[in-house]
Amino acid sequence: MSEIIQVGIDLGTTNTLVSVMNKGKMKCLKFGRSEMLPSVLYVNEDGSIEVGEKAQAKGVIDPNNRIKSSKTWMGDFYKTWKFDGLEVTPTLAATEILKTVKANVMKRLKVEEGTTIEAVITVPAYFTSNQIDETRKAGQAAGFKVTRITTEPMAAAIAYGATLATDDKLFVIDLGGGTFDISVLQVNYENNVYDNLAVDGDKKLGGDDFDETIFKYFNQIIQEDLEIDLSSLGTSGLEYGQYYSMQGRLLQAAERAKVELSESDEAEVLVPNLFTYEGEEYNFETRLSRAKFDSLCAPLYKRINQTITDMIKRENIDIKGIGRVILVGGSCYIPAIKENVEKIFNQKVYTDMDLSTLVVTGACILANSQTGVEKVQVNDIISHSLGIEVVGENGQELSRILLKNRKYPATEAEIFTTTFDYQEVVTINVYEGEDEKDLTKNEFYGSFTLEGIEKAKKGVPQIEVTFNFDESRILEVTAKDLTTSACKKVTMKKGEKIISGEQSPIDFMLLIDASGSMSIGGRMDEAKKACNKLIEEMIDLSVHRLGLVDFTSRAELICGLTQDENKLLDTVAHITTGGSTNMHHAIKIANNELKSSINDKVIIIVTDGRPDNNEEAKAMAKVSKQSGIRVITIGVGNDIDRELMKRLSSVSETNQVEFYQINNMNKLAETFKTIINSLSRQ
Ligand code: ADP
Ligand code: MG
Repeated sequence: MSEIIQVGIDLGTTNTLVSVMNKGKMKCLKFGRSEMLPSVLYVNEDGSIEVGEKAQAKGVIDPNNRIKSSKTWMGDFYKTWKFDGLEVTPTLAATEILKTVKANVMKRLKVEEGTTIEAVITVPAYFTSNQIDETRKAGQAAGFKVTRITTEPMAAAIAYGATLATDDKLFVIDLGGGTFDISVLQVNYENNVYDNLAVDGDKKLGGDDFDETIFKYFNQIIQEDLEIDLSSLGTSGLEYGQYYSMQGRLLQAAERAKVELSESDEAEVLVPNLFTYEGEEYNFETRLSRAKFDSLCAPLYKRINQTITDMIKRENIDIKGIGRVILVGGSCYIPAIKENVEKIFNQKVYTDMDLSTLVVTGACILANSQTGVEKVQVNDIISHSLGIEVVGENGQELSRILLKNRKYPATEAEIFTTTFDYQEVVTINVYEGEDEKDLTKNEFYGSFTLEGIEKAKKGVPQIEVTFNFDESRILEVTAKDLTTSACKKVTMKKGEKIISGEQSPIDFMLLIDASGSMSIGGRMDEAKKACNKLIEEMIDLSVHRLGLVDFTSRAELICGLTQDENKLLDTVAHITTGGSTNMHHAIKIANNELKSSINDKVIIIVTDGRPDNNEEAKAMAKVSKQSGIRVITIGVGNDIDRELMKRLSSVSETNQVEFYQINNMNKLAETFKTIINSLSRQ
């Protein structure tokens, strides 16, 4: 018999839960003894991955082979955990957790292989579209048919919906292990309609921070007691295994004390034989009062309160209009948090149901409602604003077009113009986020170019940019020159490369070796002139954005990726000479800067190819190989260390070492063109 089973999954940062409907009743399935599966992975020596309680226990002793709170990094394409011969991404970590969930469902419900298991998985309300997408992918990879992703506060509200019967405005506060999530919802229980009105939160705030605070305090106690520095393995004087197992056990003790303090005024802490010091076993023993705990955690309380009050202010929320304040998540057991929330809202919080199972219960109701009798209607909103990069007073800024908290589907248009005289091409760089003044605080979403702009002085052309965002989180961006009618419409998903028949744009970081001893043949002026020429020509090339790292002894980034010619020219004027080169540092900076772009990325190093010492040469080669980004070197002069330059450079797909040699800087622009042409042919 082939049947379909519907489950709700609360894929938590700390704990994961799964719930099924059984004879009209919601039931959380147990993993071993508990309903909560610790969202912890442990990588065994043979490379196999374990998830759950056992993984957690092993991780306490050996934290270096453990992954915990991986959800905090969900959607971060640059985060990986590296083990011997194994690399784990946040999405893979989620997949492993969900595989364990699926195996458990199969076992507990005795379902046959091949049965379709439909799942509703919950995510924090402020998750970006990309994080939602990765969660969906993880669910599918684990073998679920993911019918819907909904937000945790929404699920909590739905769970309460089963017990209440009036219309209400809810304020849901979810503080789990690593994430903090707040939402305002309008609920019409009678008709089962749930409208999300506003969301906010902090991606990196939760129970882990409380543990960390207490853990640091415990470390301090031991340090004072024994007069040793435990801040790192090196300074502690302990053996590798001993140091990490000691830190792991101390962190566990910190968490236990925290949990105990939710019930009692004082926690007794005892960790026998924490480590051996000067031949003697050290037993860690202390008492922690709730008052002390509260004073240590005061900065965290402040952040939590601030996030809530900021949102109330920003969204103009009338506190008196909030019917119920609902607490969700294990960290809301902390008494001070509840008290603070009650003070802010001037009402008692509603905690009729178990804080830990609210989310999974709601998810399960939703999973079953899609086919069942009781249809639940959920209206989600855009959790982060979307806009485009513009040149403003402070350089690159964000102009938000679709504002957060808008209901799906949403459409909005705005008019923009050009930055340069007679500019015929504009690049539309789409970003997700709220910070209009500092573009780098927002997340890059996607990009495309529009050609055929009216040939006119800067500021004259009228380019209309329209955003259209639907519930499946597919964004459609249209750019249109209102005079020439040149128009391009692009459908994008975050992180996806837009290849619409055209050559994909390239982002370059240019490293100018301007150290005192060399300054490219000893003539800094010549080098600057060459760079200026290069920048002027750059606009016509298929270069998308260019950045500069000046690697004097300080190796600072003097200009982030930009298309602003004036800014680049101004930056070149400020390149200084002096000190010895710190090239490997410069490569690192360039690498970091490029990471946020989804275009093809290249680092170009312009140097005389004579490092100051051997160590530096080795470090340079290492960083360049590890960067994962193409490194093309241009050596200037006849006196370069060709072997080193080759070691620094990448190898192209045609097996060419990407190293160019020029006699003087006048050839820089030309060489650059050659490089670009060879890149586009690939
Ligand atoms: P998540 O949604 O992140 O998986 P949970 O809602 O399960 O997290 O909450 C886990 C967090 O709650 C952990 O940091 C845990 O230490 C904390 N926690 C659980 N119970 C208590 C308690 N009684 N008092 C204080 N903190 C608690
Ligand atoms: Mg949770």
